[in-house]
Amino acid sequence: MKRDYYEVLGVSKDASDDEIKKAYRKLARQYHPDVNKAADAEEKFKEVKEAYDVLSDSQKRAQYDRFGHQDPNQGFGGGFDGSGMGGFGDIFDMFFGGGRRSNPNAPRKGSDLQYGLSIEFIDAVFGKETDVEIPKEAECDTCHGSGAKPGTGVETCKTCHGTGQQEVAANTPFGRIVNRRVCSVCEGKGKVYKEKCTTCRGSGRVKVRRRIHLNIPAGVDDGAQLRVAGEGEPGINGGPPGDLYVVLRVKSHEFFEREGNDIYCEVPLTFAQAALGDEIEVPTVDGRVKLKIPAGTQTDTFFRLRGKGVPHLRGNGRGDQHVKVRVITPTRLSDRQKELLRELAELSGEKPGQHGGEDEGFFEKMKRAFRGE
Ligand code: ZN
Ligand code: ZN
Repeated sequence: MKRDYYEVLGVSKDASDDEIKKAYRKLARQYHPDVNKAADAEEKFKEVKEAYDVLSDSQKRAQYDRFGHQDPNQGFGGGFDGSGMGGFGDIFDMFFGGGRRSNPNAPRKGSDLQYGLSIEFIDAVFGKETDVEIPKEAECDTCHGSGAKPGTGVETCKTCHGTGQQEVAANTPFGRIVNRRVCSVCEGKGKVYKEKCTTCRGSGRVKVRRRIHLNIPAGVDDGAQLRVAGEGEPGINGGPPGDLYVVLRVKSHEFFEREGNDIYCEVPLTFAQAALGDEIEVPTVDGRVKLKIPAGTQTDTFFRLRGKGVPHLRGNGRGDQHVKVRVITPTRLSDRQKELLRELAELSGEKPGQHGGEDEGFFEKMKRAFRGE
């Protein structure tokens, strides 16, 4: 059983960020494997680090407060396993102010991008090919990402001799430690240039709008994500680009409603249509279809149109359409209409239940209820 993160750090559930940070520093010093040679020190340190990683991140903390260790989206502990001693890098950042020990020149994957796209109800049902314009960063064409003005030349950084890293010695509670940090002159690139590229002002990146062709598959639902590989932010130091995630928002429809792969709608019926039966036309996503209404149909009855729903996203077949009929009670009657209805009531025996329909049981039950049975 995993220990509660608050318990691990010895703070209360409503501890401030500052209290959490203080508690972490104290425990990290106590259990850091460089200092503490006890057999379980490393385990303890990892536990403390994991608790801090979660509780110091407001988003992760909120999730942890809600779901505990059983977070449905991510395992908090996962990030730490396998990182070995590399995981201790952060503590040095904290004590000495910046500078990870990992090589800043190593190729890194670009960030993933997320883009929200609203689509019509019908397009979610049948799918659609469309182009979207995504604002993003791309490598500057003028300097090819170097940030240097073309022709001015790039030279090796004198401060770090091209390594991109500076060594900084510090006296610490653990003794004298030499810590490497990103070179402050070249910002880890190992190279400097005399003049900045005028297109990107030396950043090596420009903002662009990129047109991307999307193939929205039939049957997608609200919140679905389409992954477009390689269309995220460009990679760093020659690493691969990130991915683009297009999050679909399906607009509501004025007539249809969707639940999974089934479509629901409601159609009005006159009292005469409901009583005598009729054949009506009902809109479906495929166009109009005929629907037979049997005589004596009650209001709120559902009729099923097989295969008129949403196609299954993976695999064959479609859902159904469910048509709910609503019997409309007539209003603003003419004198002649009122006369006919009165005549109808008389013919029906005035009192409900005496005409012997299928609803007899219903009225019987109601009468019993009035009598308090
Ligand atoms: Zn440039
Ligand atoms: Zn440098």
